[in-house]
Amino acid sequence: MPIADPAKKQLAMERKLFFKICMNCGAKNPYKADKCRGCGRSNALRLKNRQTGPKK
Ligand SMILES: [Zn+2]
Repeated sequence: MPIADPAKKQLAMERKLFFKICMNCGAKNPYKADKCRGCGRSNALRLKNRQTGPKK
């Protein structure tokens, strides 16, 4: 089922692009996560900020 609401679509895109990677176990966590859902560490999360375009 496609997402019709532009605001929700934008939010979904942001959630795909902005997430946190755990340096300890490598689990992918939500942007708003304050601790890893894989290993529970809060100090191991690193913000992953992926580029959307060819610009660097
Ligand atoms: Zn972890």
